[in-house]
Amino acid sequence: MHFKFTKILTLLFLFLLAPANGCSGISSTAASSVEEYSCTAKTRMSRIPSTPDITLSTSRCEDYVFKKEKLSQAINLFVLEYSESFKIDKDLVWAMLHRLHIEVSAIPRTVDLAYDTHGKLVKNPAVSGLALSPKHIWVEIKTSQIWSTSLAHELVHVIIWTSNFGVHGDPDHEGDQFSGWTPKHTKFIREFNKILLDYEI
Ligand SMILES: [Zn+2]
Repeated sequence: MHFKFTKILTLLFLFLLAPANGCSGISSTAASSVEEYSCTAKTRMSRIPSTPDITLSTSRCEDYVFKKEKLSQAINLFVLEYSESFKIDKDLVWAMLHRLHIEVSAIPRTVDLAYDTHGKLVKNPAVSGLALSPKHIWVEIKTSQIWSTSLAHELVHVIIWTSNFGVHGDPDHEGDQFSGWTPKHTKFIREFNKILLDYEI
């Protein structure tokens, strides 16, 4: 899980979403990785190109969604960087993401209990991402770009979960109740999101 560390990003997101003075909103800018979605206009689930059957859907019928091409770029960069940082063969990283389903929404969620990065248990936190199973993650869309979301954080949970043969995805992160997540993972996510930012993804 990934905590919503500030309301400012949400407010920025809402600002970016608000069409004003004839501007058609976030989907009109070249750098936007997000577009409006309506389930009446398209099929509910889409396949992400250049990935091993990774699929994408929204939580709600009227919602926002990552552009497929941008999400594909983000995941391809993630696999490359993760493979290099953790000295794992790229094909193995891809295998761990095989048939992953990514659900997204502009609306945040709350859960009963969650761990923060340091392994501290928190009651009823608002979360901006969830690893629901080794094959299903949920990511809140916060701004018009992917770097500001918990995508990389949830992908790391998926990799740890799959490496643990499906036992757990290390929900307490750097805490000591579950194993797998190290400070190196936290640092990797921070640096990887900077790379996405540089690519305007
Ligand atoms: Zn987490």
